[in-house]
Amino acid sequence: MRAFTYERATTPTQAAAAVAGHAGAKFLAGGTNLLDLMKLEIETPRHLVDVQDLKLDRIEAAADGGLRIGALVTNTALASDPHVRRDYGVLTRAIVAGASGQLRNKATTAGNLLQRTRCPYFYDTNQPCNKRRPGSGCAAIGGYSRQLAVIGTSDQCIATYPGDMAVALRVLDAEVETVSPDGQTRRIAIADFHRLPGDSPQQDTALAPGELITAVTLPKPLGGTHIYRKVRDRASYAFALVSVAAVIQPGGAGRVAFGGVAPRPWRVEAAEADLPQGASAVAARVFAGARPTEDNRFKLPLATRTLAAVIAQAKG
Ligand code: SF4
Repeated sequence: MRAFTYERATTPTQAAAAVAGHAGAKFLAGGTNLLDLMKLEIETPRHLVDVQDLKLDRIEAAADGGLRIGALVTNTALASDPHVRRDYGVLTRAIVAGASGQLRNKATTAGNLLQRTRCPYFYDTNQPCNKRRPGSGCAAIGGYSRQLAVIGTSDQCIATYPGDMAVALRVLDAEVETVSPDGQTRRIAIADFHRLPGDSPQQDTALAPGELITAVTLPKPLGGTHIYRKVRDRASYAFALVSVAAVIQPGGAGRVAFGGVAPRPWRVEAAEADLPQGASAVAARVFAGARPTEDNRFKLPLATRTLAAVIAQAKG
């Protein structure tokens, strides 16, 4: 691990200014991804700004009937919150499908959104990787790509976004609240938060340098049946090959998003009109334009079958 300096921030704006004011600085919260990446020298921040004292750890009712989740609410606290369990069950189910109990006790809402890909070549510093070292190439293209994306990719990167929580947030139309180093705040729709790789795969999100996540907001509850189904290589503590987050209403209408298939949670709202016609009709529109590799072509029929299982489960 490379040497770094460290400070504890006392306000969100001060934290944002501290990161913006130090070249190579990063925020530190739960550290469940960042510290691993630092030990492997994939991330080499020269300065860490610890945000754990910022009192962003509350879940509050919002004036519009929704919920405001502080950026530092742990994954365990969020998944077990009674309002989340009652009104946003897809979020609870997605969170508990990820990581382990120990990690969920430490990992935060904002940190979960910001976790980096688990592409095996991203973690191997002997291999070229445009996300880790821009312009170096992509070892996954033409390499081993079973876990990687089938849609939303570019000629620079075919990595997936690895998380579960954000797939549920995409179905719920969450928004991400932030503060900038100058104190300005903004809200970013979750649909726009994670970037597609294009020509700059090193940039995972829409956040500007120094911009700090302060909360995630959920609109008022949707009702319906909430399901998160995750298909993976082993029964726990593994990333999704394919996952489906769904809110299905009586009669079969609803919303659906896919994880494990793209560089961000993948949702095509126009396809949801076909939900009453069944999984194949929806998947045909969701995955139009997919560019799978020989290794991961299986994800397309797997995604269709996983959605079919979700629809059947919703019908009871
Ligand atoms: Fe790196 Fe992306 Fe290629 Fe993986 S797919 S090696 S993360 S550039």
